[in-house]
Amino acid sequence: MDIQIIKVGITNCYIIKHEGTILIDGGVPGEFDKFLKGLKESGIDPKEIKALIITHCHWDHIGCAKKIKDKTGAKVVVHKYEKDILIKGEPVMPPGVTRWGKILGFFINKLSKKFSIEPCEVDIVIGEEDYPLEEFGIKGKIVFTPGHSPGSISVVLNSGDAFVGDMAMNGLPLTIGPNLPIFAEDMSVVKNSWRKLIDMGVKKIHPAHGKPFLVKKLMNKVVL
Ligand SMILES: [Zn+2]
Ligand SMILES: [Zn+2]
Repeated sequence: MDIQIIKVGITNCYIIKHEGTILIDGGVPGEFDKFLKGLKESGIDPKEIKALIITHCHWDHIGCAKKIKDKTGAKVVVHKYEKDILIKGEPVMPPGVTRWGKILGFFINKLSKKFSIEPCEVDIVIGEEDYPLEEFGIKGKIVFTPGHSPGSISVVLNSGDAFVGDMAMNGLPLTIGPNLPIFAEDMSVVKNSWRKLIDMGVKKIHPAHGKPFLVKKLMNKVVL
């Protein structure tokens, strides 16, 4: 299993390659060139990518989704609670839950309203049950992990690697080190989703913002 990060604006887009290749998240609007450059540097043919899994439909995760879909031919996968955001191309931003989240969120919210996000068709709609990834040549599954947003999903590989979108954030300007998100719809739901992933035995966490870290660094923050 090969994992690569392409940074598309402030967002990590992850490429997972095994027998097949999938991409997680669609980056910030207007940064498609960075995605193409990253692909080239990683030696990945765009047509290899069979699925674009959107962890959730905030503006910084769907910005280049339409362009990526057109270039790669990948099937776009999203949770049923957020598919309409993608289809309409709405710039959505969650509320801040910490003091810093509220301050930073105020400015990002203003900024995000200026973005135009291209509407993108959806191919696979995820529900509340796990969705296996074997059809894309990946040993793992999609797991429903709401809280940061109502339809947040994570990709959990059999290796214990988990790609959690914004269910965790690691590093400035968002957090100091690995932490829970500073923006969220419902923090108690975020914690429940963490317990679900921990019970599944996840080991290494790959957040959309910041570097990967070991799940044990988050354990004390997840306990109620
Ligand atoms: Zn988000
Ligand atoms: Zn984000």
